[in-house]
Amino acid sequence: MKAVIFDVDGVIVDVRNSYHHAIKETVKHFTGKNLSLEFIREFKFSRGINNDWDVSVELIKHLNFEPPPYDDLVEVFENYYDQLKDKEELILDKDFFKDLKESGLILGVVTGRPKRDLKYLFDRFQLWEFFDAIIDDDDVGDINLRKPHPFPLHLCMESLGAKEGIYIGDNNADYEMVKFYKKIYGKPMEFIHFKKVFQENLPADFSTDSEEDLKEYLKVLTGLKK
Ligand SMILES: [Mg+2]
Repeated sequence: MKAVIFDVDGVIVDVRNSYHHAIKETVKHFTGKNLSLEFIREFKFSRGINNDWDVSVELIKHLNFEPPPYDDLVEVFENYYDQLKDKEELILDKDFFKDLKESGLILGVVTGRPKRDLKYLFDRFQLWEFFDAIIDDDDVGDINLRKPHPFPLHLCMESLGAKEGIYIGDNNADYEMVKFYKKIYGKPMEFIHFKKVFQENLPADFSTDSEEDLKEYLKVLTGLKK
């Protein structure tokens, strides 16, 4: 059976009031410049930069400032994020995953979140029990192998023991990861664009903003339903 693997930010949880604000505050901290959230999102999505620490670095450079040492930036960013993380709300709730899990699907997660942020979210909403394999940014190690590099998706597929998969993401970095995965690892992987939060256009095997349609389509794709 095809494994069903989810992105976290923008798919399982809405990060408009957390990570995106943390980028804004971090850039302001190091440059004094106040960027709009719209500009930040457009910058992030159009360039396909998945990691929000990296988005902050690139924005600081874009404003013609010298970026701080990476660790300093991460510390400032995570401090802001800690103040904002309770504003995150689930997009796909526990019932959604419970239904899929009880239907017999194999579920995984591939996220660019650091482990600490993922743990906070999954503890807070009690999401651990639904997933058979979870790959976060700390599992990847080498920063050159982070999403959109397909290595994290490969790790998840190996960990699930799956030969075919479906990845559900919300932006260009997700699409690119699937594209590179098929090229480098040569295994079948379909890409579903779940665009509940942002209606950006992306090439995808299936695209929807509805939880119900997503659930039905996953059941059809995995052969549970005709
Ligand atoms: Mg995402």
